[in-house]
Amino acid sequence: MFLSRRCFLSAAALAGVFFLGGQALAAGEVNLYSARQEALIKPLLDRFSAATGIKVNLVSAKADALLQRLKSESRNSPADVLLTVDAGNLHAAQAAGVLQPVRSRVLEETIPATYRDPAGHWFGLSLRARPVMYVKGRVDPAELSTYEALAEPKWKGRICIRSSDNVYNQSLVGAMIATRGEAATETWVRGFVANFARKPQGGDRDQLKAAVAGQCDIAIANTYYLAQMLESGKADEKAVAEKIAVFWPNQAERGVHVNISGAGVTAAASNRDNAVRLLEFLAGAEAQQWYAETNQEYPVRDGIALSATLRGFGEFRADNVNMAKLGEFNAAAVRLMDRAGWR
Ligand code: FE
Repeated sequence: MFLSRRCFLSAAALAGVFFLGGQALAAGEVNLYSARQEALIKPLLDRFSAATGIKVNLVSAKADALLQRLKSESRNSPADVLLTVDAGNLHAAQAAGVLQPVRSRVLEETIPATYRDPAGHWFGLSLRARPVMYVKGRVDPAELSTYEALAEPKWKGRICIRSSDNVYNQSLVGAMIATRGEAATETWVRGFVANFARKPQGGDRDQLKAAVAGQCDIAIANTYYLAQMLESGKADEKAVAEKIAVFWPNQAERGVHVNISGAGVTAAASNRDNAVRLLEFLAGAEAQQWYAETNQEYPVRDGIALSATLRGFGEFRADNVNMAKLGEFNAAAVRLMDRAGWR
């Protein structure tokens, strides 16, 4: 039977996958640049391919390297989707012109406005919080209240946190600038830095290890690090994590600082429709459940069950500053942290 090209394509689209000479041909493909560990995204991409027939070509690398690559490839980039962590990185990609705005009713109805770019350049796909963590028995949680209060002299020499070149801290400071303004934030950073137990070094896990080892009493770290350590097969990591408790700061007012992992369609996308379908799939209930649970993150939408470990951290009020603000204030945050001596 002869089908016109248009009929043939729509039949293929309906079937998702069609067969020719015994070979399965994908209903197109989509090229994904991902800053997430391959094991933490690949099974989900396989499910997307099984459901849609769209082949996903995955390139995994660090967030900064992917952005550099997108910039240098420019209009010739094979990438259709950039998946990365932190609103600061998503904003940087948007500012570099490597993302394009997308309108999707599915994405707009599913993902709260706080967690996506108003113009559609990027969409949050999971949520992480950056609360205060403390060594059980060494800190009375009644002594803790807000990030702002960590600048008080009673915390002198008791705080561990990674360096200011880390985007998580830049976003933390950016969120404070968005709420309190630059002058008040700078005063806070100066007091906070004066309380550091040591020169900033290492990643979030290292701050928790240093705290348990006695170098400090309090650390600031993203929730999934503690959750992953608690679930770790490594006995030493698990032992460290079990000595740490989460304190949700700023609950009486703006809420704990949160950030997203997210994705956007590239400006150069040649498989734009498939790119949007992939984003819509990742925002879907099944994907949200798996993605959040596997990464020990919070889903970006309501009505999705949390991992048991995250449930153990308790409920919290999240800062509802729009994620776009974290990017907007990133440059100001970096300059401010530099002036205030956060190395
Ligand atoms: Fe991380």
